[in-house]
Amino acid sequence: MTEKLYLNDAYLRECDSRITEIRENGVILDKTVFYASGGGQPGDSGKIVFNNQEFAVKDTIKDGEEVLHILENPHPMEVGSNVICHIDWERRYSHMKYHGAIHLIDAVVNMNQDYEGLITGSQIYDDRARVDFSMENFSQEQAMNIIEKTNAVIKEGHEIRVKYMPGEEAVKIKNLARTEPGRQLIQKLETVRIIEIVGIDQQADGGTHVRNTSEIGTIVLQKIENKGKKNKRMYFTLS
Ligand SMILES: [Zn+2]
Repeated sequence: MTEKLYLNDAYLRECDSRITEIRENGVILDKTVFYASGGGQPGDSGKIVFNNQEFAVKDTIKDGEEVLHILENPHPMEVGSNVICHIDWERRYSHMKYHGAIHLIDAVVNMNQDYEGLITGSQIYDDRARVDFSMENFSQEQAMNIIEKTNAVIKEGHEIRVKYMPGEEAVKIKNLARTEPGRQLIQKLETVRIIEIVGIDQQADGGTHVRNTSEIGTIVLQKIENKGKKNKRMYFTLS
């Protein structure tokens, strides 16, 4: 099992690791700072240094409990090789800000009864993010209103922290998981990782986020799309 160092410290940019398995397209490490794609957040890119030589990591994905670092080129590394991992920090930090912004949009929609909707999915890209809503009445005006409220909360500077809770305790908390697959997953877990935006919201989550909402910046609405009667989509950037 790869130890996922980013779950406890999202600000770690590098670490020493050992190769535990060689795959056709990459390597598995005993521990890593590379975020493995999931929950709408892309996998990290960066480099692995072995014998003073750099090998580019173009993507990082999960394989069960392991994290697979996909390498761009052939390499001489073997099982047991000691390496140094470096993530592409600028790209990751952008993902952390977008991830935080999505949580806050979600929190604002959940707090405001008059929206009569919820977030059904999201995707982070390097320079923008997408949020899907289940909402019947969704207009440009309403989207602007959600963004305005969210930006006000962001500016209040709330701490974002990680905490852990036994699964049986977590299932009793309303809205900790916002989707049915999420709720089912929590029930099976011994320990649930929770992202808490202090004073605002908490959610079961496996991603990386900034430490304080003030790091996110300002959300700028780009466009909204009508994908069906109750299926609406929003794209935004951060400035
Ligand atoms: Zn998250």
